[in-house]
Amino acid sequence: MIFIFIVSVFVVIHGITRYQRTGSAYKAVYLSKKHVAYLEKYFDFFNKLPPQSRKIFTQRVASFITSKKFIARNMESVTDEMKVLISASAIQLTFGFPNVQLSHFRNILVYPDSYYSLINRTYHNGEVNPRLKAIVLSWKSFVEGYIHDDGRNLGLHEMAHALRLENKIMNEEYQFLDKAALKDWELRATRTMKEIEDGQESFFREYGAVDREEFFAVAVENFFERPLEFVEKHPLTYNTLRQLLKQDPVLLEKL
Ligand SMILES: [Zn+2]
Repeated sequence: MIFIFIVSVFVVIHGITRYQRTGSAYKAVYLSKKHVAYLEKYFDFFNKLPPQSRKIFTQRVASFITSKKFIARNMESVTDEMKVLISASAIQLTFGFPNVQLSHFRNILVYPDSYYSLINRTYHNGEVNPRLKAIVLSWKSFVEGYIHDDGRNLGLHEMAHALRLENKIMNEEYQFLDKAALKDWELRATRTMKEIEDGQESFFREYGAVDREEFFAVAVENFFERPLEFVEKHPLTYNTLRQLLKQDPVLLEKL
């Protein structure tokens, strides 16, 4: 009993417990109350979940945090608040896949604002780099993404790129996306990208027509930020994305 008490205190003090793997499942990690409070304060998706799902969400966020290396760039440190919210963005996207936590991408690089990329000599707000196993984010843009439900969300956008890459990288999370749903998705994406190019599309922003990866990332932003408008304007595309991601944000709007 005393031992359990000591262990509980340890968990509360340290917040995020160690992470363990058993087979392909991640388990037994918890967030402290302080960390859960960040989700309650800033993360709408979390607050809309039923209580049981909220518990699973916090465990998955804790597991994600402990499996990643957070690296501060142009600033002193990545705060716990940043770690919790960035991880929550990844878990929001992968909530339909209990065993997926984008394991290839071990490094999360956080800049305070947009940063200059030497690769293509422009300023970036975020990117995913499979070679460096990194997801890179501007904290300012990340926060802005969650302030407005306007179909623009940097965190979800970059996590969406990471998700598609993770699905192709041969590791324990290889090919978790349903092949039939993925095929349907490519058909829908091709049609809608053509409509964007022809100026017949008003729901998805123009950037979605750059290539298939960008269309997927833009669609994911809208799937979570404006699900009701999405399902009304593009019911078949929404339904395909719902099947692909194994979750339905429209249901959360109706709870
Ligand atoms: Zn992109």
